[in-house]
Amino acid sequence: MESKNYTCPVCKGKDLFLKHEASYIYSYVLDSDAPGIKNTEIFSPFLYDRRDQTSSYEYVECNSCKTKFPCDLLQKAIDDTGQMTM
Ligand SMILES: [Zn+2]
Repeated sequence: MESKNYTCPVCKGKDLFLKHEASYIYSYVLDSDAPGIKNTEIFSPFLYDRRDQTSSYEYVECNSCKTKFPCDLLQKAIDDTGQMTM
């Protein structure tokens, strides 16, 4: 299988990462013991009753120059340089 040659449009570095950033609100029902139905003795943040995602964002980051750019911009840069082969 041929590996694709992704290059940073800024520094021409090849060390690129796709990053997925997300924000969540975790809710815990207040009951007679520790907050959260699933929590009894102590409060454990991962034992939540409800989780709502408020936002999410995907971007590509260059590990060399730390430039962040949207995924579609990378796709455009790849198309422009003709490095993407279908
Ligand atoms: Zn770069």
